Amino acid sequence: MKMKKILSVVLVAACTISMAACGSNASKSNGSDNSSSDSSDTLVMATNAEFPPYEYYDGDEIVGIDAEFAAAIADKLGMKLKIEDMAFDSIIPAVQGGKADFGAAGITVTDERKTQVDFSDSYYTGRQVIIVTEDSTIASPDDLEGKKMGVQLGTTGDLYVSGDYGDENVERFNKGFEAVQSLLQGKIDAVVIDDQPAKAFVAENDGLKILDTEYIEEEYAFCFKKDSKLVDQVNEAIASLQADGTFDKIVAKYITAE
Ligand code: GLN
Repeated sequence: MKMKKILSVVLVAACTISMAACGSNASKSNGSDNSSSDSSDTLVMATNAEFPPYEYYDGDEIVGIDAEFAAAIADKLGMKLKIEDMAFDSIIPAVQGGKADFGAAGITVTDERKTQVDFSDSYYTGRQVIIVTEDSTIASPDDLEGKKMGVQLGTTGDLYVSGDYGDENVERFNKGFEAVQSLLQGKIDAVVIDDQPAKAFVAENDGLKILDTEYIEEEYAFCFKKDSKLVDQVNEAIASLQADGTFDKIVAKYITAE
């Protein structure tokens, strides 16, 4: 009886020691694996949270169509989503350099960007529109000739306006909102920016209007490092979230029907 007790104590002790060893081993290997195991179940999204209603701050939290859609996609893939906020023109370099798994920022698919990154299927049609002050004589893109235009640095608005009207007529801002402020202060004559952010900025500020004539139509997609295996998985998730109505629900939450 006594022997048995001693034996069992020894067994428990041995077990405890081996468990401790095992435990510390496990946590050690977990520790060293952490970065890779973390990155394998966390999707890092690069964005520029200055672009309502796609991505913007609500208090400390980044919300919006892209943020919620990306979270739903990550969920479908059984992964967690982590959002990194950065300048718009840093997103593609971050994706190329592997700092982020993908970029989601109302990013327009362009031929030039296609040489730098791979795109998912497109999930939204955006438009470049023209914001002017209510009393402006500018009524169509033709009237922009020789005018001072504000754009967000590195966006398609920047690209098209610079190409069509000349570099010297373009003022580049880090945030679309700053371009709108400059317009309100009379420093520039128009802002060329995507339609939904334009609506959000015009709604927040008196004395501005959006011209009826759109400047250009474009497609938004997520971008990935070239040859990333994620593209196919994300495309599948996009298709399924579009088919089951999740995507429409997210859009409806942020864009009220006109
Ligand atoms: N759609 C525009 C582009 O891709 C602007 C995107 C943005 O400012 N977030 O260049």
